[in-house]
Formats: sequence, structure tokens, C-alpha cells
Amino acid sequence: ASQPADIASMIERRNGLLGPGYQLFYADPIEVTAARGVYLYGRDGTEYLDAYNNVAQIGHCHPRVVEAVSRQLATLNTNTRYLQKPLLDLAEHLLAHFPAPLDRVTLTCTGSEANDLATRIARHHTGAGGIIVTANAYHGVTSSVAAYSPSLGPGAPLGPHVRTIAAPDPAAYPDEVALIAAVRDDVRRAADDLTRAGYGVSACLLDTVFSSDGVFTHPPGVLRALADEVRSYGAVLIADEVQAGFGRTGDDWWGFARHGFVPDIVTMGKPMGNGYPVAAVVLRAEIGRAFETAVRYFNTFGGSTTAAVAAQAVVTVIEEEDLVARARQVGASLGDALRDLADGTDLIGAVRGVGMFYGVELSAGGSSGDNARIAREVVNRMRRAGVLISASGPQGNVLKIRPPLTFDQTHVDRLAETLAAALRSVDRTARKV
Ligand code: PMP
Repeated sequence: ASQPADIASMIERRNGLLGPGYQLFYADPIEVTAARGVYLYGRDGTEYLDAYNNVAQIGHCHPRVVEAVSRQLATLNTNTRYLQKPLLDLAEHLLAHFPAPLDRVTLTCTGSEANDLATRIARHHTGAGGIIVTANAYHGVTSSVAAYSPSLGPGAPLGPHVRTIAAPDPAAYPDEVALIAAVRDDVRRAADDLTRAGYGVSACLLDTVFSSDGVFTHPPGVLRALADEVRSYGAVLIADEVQAGFGRTGDDWWGFARHGFVPDIVTMGKPMGNGYPVAAVVLRAEIGRAFETAVRYFNTFGGSTTAAVAAQAVVTVIEEEDLVARARQVGASLGDALRDLADGTDLIGAVRGVGMFYGVELSAGGSSGDNARIAREVVNRMRRAGVLISASGPQGNVLKIRPPLTFDQTHVDRLAETLAAALRSVDRTARKV
């Protein structure tokens, strides 16, 4: 794509300073200079409807978070080795949104750190080392977590102690009973293999909406069977709620709840501070005991005073603005709009999702490469029309739609109209190869 000269030179500067590994969104990257609510703003004031950023869960620059963080930074910001009320208030407030057996919390700075800590805890608790994840899962950036993040590809190989299972795709089975039987078989295969290899099974980590696997949200309940199977090996069930959590699914605060099971450990991050870095591990106290006894865990910035008040503001806003219900209601309308679109074009093979998280799988191209190219084309055309989404999944052919929970019906309409126009235009051009 041809860019304005100053944008091109900024990209060149960036490549020189940061390296080309720092990826940018869109063929025509946007220089963003401000954000508010559901909008990002370009330097010329162009308004972009943000249907992708799941960090700004309660809307960009929410005044409650801005005010709480600013005030705290100007008053006191230090670590958890001092007695401070904000951390305790947050811990109580957050735990009130979990079912009773989950009664402890440790604060970290990122989702990766939360998963790293969760799997360490699981290893200490079980005495085993094996880890089970889904085939294209992403759980984070540290070397220990990258070793169980298959979506990173062959450049970041899985650890010898890691086995994968398929994400539960209802389209691959005649009915729910067959799907659940396959899921159970898959877990047994992975767990038996880890046992034979001498690792045993310490944990199964599940992103409860399977974000990187292509978004698989149904049938709710499938994870309960999976959890039973995992626990029959004495392993710990870790729900990675970094993407699904804080009301995203519209059914509940946490993605696991709609599946009717309670994990042993829950990890969360991204939306927790609405942009301020704060993440956490929530668990049953007894699961953490062996780790606590053996290891002195201290995270300098994790749970700092400011992180605590940022998360407290987010939790409060989700409650006061009733954003879980809103994600359910507006999300249902978003789902309807996407399914209507799917009915009108053979470019879309499947619409999957729940609440404010949808995956739209494009499958009309002759090969998976064609579908990925069409998906990129749709994403770029929408960006030019002022609506921001992205694409992911193992083949890169799943449009990922994940707006702030403050989306309303007018935003859904604009998103659907822009997507419809983008699909029509690629149908005429890019598809013909
Ligand atoms: N788990 C999931 C499901 C994620 O999507 C991510 C981030 N994309 C992480 C963990 C890692 O979080 P962070 O980038 O904050 O380390």
C-alpha cells in the first residue's frame, strides 16, 4: 500500500529502532493520537470505531480509571511489601465475583506472568510437570509460557512436557455427544502420553473462548466434561480468562462459568486495568500451599497501589454500568447481525461466538491461503472505512470481533454495514484468483 511520506518514514524509523519483528496492524497503519470510549482517533482527527481492543473493555480512557490512576500516582505508588488498603479492597471486591472455593489472589503485571505463576503453582501442587493446551492456543511471552503457546509456531517450539488437544469444534462432529466423547478421548490421549513419557500431568490450561484457536464457544458445557477428564489424572485445571474474562462473554464475569465448572486456578489480565498493566492469579488456597511454602514470590510492580486502584475502578464500572448484561444484550444483536451477513454470502463459512466476542470464519477461497488473504483484505477495507477489527485462527481466516463492552446498537449497525460492504467488495475482486 502507498502511504503518505511521513507515515512511511515513521514506519522506517520504527523498523530501524525496534526491528521489523514489531508488527503493525493494517496495510495502511494508523498513527493514533487519542482515544475515547469506543473510538480511536488518527492524528488528523479521523474517528475509528474500535471493534477489536479487548484491553479497553469499559471504553478507552474511561474517566473513572483515569481519575483513580492519576490521583493514586500523585499520592502513593509502591509495592505489596507495605501494608496498603487498596490491594485488600481490590482483592475482596474481585474475589466476590468468583465462586466460593476460589478464595485467594496474587497480583502480577501481565497475563504471561499470571500463566507462568499458575503453572508453577500447579507443578508444586501435583509434583508432575506435563501441561496440556489446545492446538493453537496462546498463553504468553515468557520462555516457560511460550513453551505451551503453540500459536507462536515452529520458531517457538513446544516444550517436551507439552501436549496439545483440539479446540472443541462442534462443526466437526454430528452432535454434542460425539463432540464431548472426542474431547474426552483427546485429553486421555494427551495425558496418557505425558504419563508414559514420565512427566505426569500437572495442568491443563484452557482459554475458555479459544481466542487463538479461532473462537469456539459452544456448546456451553463441553468444558465441564473436559475438566472431569483432566481431574481424573490428578491434574489442575487452569482457566485462562485473559481474553474471556471481565464480562466479555455476556453470560457471566468469567468464560468458565457458562460451561458449568469451577477451575482450580484462574488467570486474568488485559482488561483488568483497562490499559493500566495489572493481571492476577485467583485460586483455591489449598492449591497454592505447596508453592507458597517452597517459593518466595514477590512481583515488584504486581499489585502496586496504582495497579490496585485501576483494577478496582474497572470492577466497579463493570458493576455500575451493568456491562455484563450489556455485553449479553448488545452481543446478541451483534451475533444476529453477523449471522444475517453469513446468510447473504458464501464467503462466510461459520459465525462463532458469544457476548462481545465473535469469530467469523471465511471459507470460500480455494485454499486456506486464499481465505487468509481474503480475511486480511476485509480487515484492511474495513480499516479504510473507519472500523477496526482483525483476523486470526490457525489459518488466519477468522475475522476477530471484540469491541469494548460499551458498544451500543448504533455501533453494531455501523460494524455490520461496513463488514457487509467490505465483503461485497472483496467478493468482486480479491476472491477471483
Ligand atoms: N493468555 C491469553 C489468552 C492471551 O490472549 C494473552 C495475550 N494476548 C496472554 C495470555 C498474555 O497476556 P500478556 O500479553 O498480558 O502477557
